[in-house]
Amino acid sequence: MFHDDVIELPVTVVNGEQAGPTVCLTAAVHGDELNGVKIVQEVAAEYEPSDLHGTLVCLHVLNVPGFLAQQRYIPIYDEDFNRSFSGNSRSTPTNRLANTIYEEFISKCDLGLDFHTSTRNRTTMYHVRADMCDPAVERIARAFGISIILDGEGAQGTLRNVACRDGIPTVTVEMRRAHRFQTAHLDRALHCVASVLAEHEVLPDRPVSWSGWTRVVARDGKKMWLCAETGGLVEMKWGPYPLVEDGDPLFTILDHFKDTSR
Ligand SMILES: [Zn+2]
Repeated sequence: MFHDDVIELPVTVVNGEQAGPTVCLTAAVHGDELNGVKIVQEVAAEYEPSDLHGTLVCLHVLNVPGFLAQQRYIPIYDEDFNRSFSGNSRSTPTNRLANTIYEEFISKCDLGLDFHTSTRNRTTMYHVRADMCDPAVERIARAFGISIILDGEGAQGTLRNVACRDGIPTVTVEMRRAHRFQTAHLDRALHCVASVLAEHEVLPDRPVSWSGWTRVVARDGKKMWLCAETGGLVEMKWGPYPLVEDGDPLFTILDHFKDTSR
């Protein structure tokens, strides 16, 4: 219950006909991070029991109150749901919701993929966040098949951190922008999910992807957001690969008449 309203959590469980691991896919623990919602919807619709050696637990939206209010945090309390795991059954609404989700679903799984995006008005490149010191987590991160892996345990109370602590290896997938569905990236994401399922023999006949190159960054290093010092129309310069070296231009900022650039 959330202020006397029943919270209905959208869940799809696909029970494979053959035995195998239980894989948890979660989205919208931040309520306005929509790309993962679409990915989980498509994964839930894509696979039949006859396809699977194992089980898919698809939790389409975790922060239902935030999703309905189109905001990142839990409404009214402005609490970060992704600092609330594994929750507490005798505490605040946020903690009770986290505890129910964790105990009923996540704790029963063998591995997990948790889909996020940047916060609003920012964008993140498509990458995985994973504790590369944990071999089971590293296995998922590499099988996901994208080039950038941000190494680290994740903050306390995050779904990923708590699940890994409890022996459920989990990675976070960060994909582009909040508050919109960016379906141009959907096919690639579905391919990455299939690769993880192949690696864990949930889809034993499918190949495991290889991104071509991989860079693991920032276990203890500094990470930061880049913010422009002036307003204007931005033209991004980086690409085709999302890595830049010192001195490379990232973007230019123009006025409407293309007169001013920085
Ligand atoms: Zn997030």
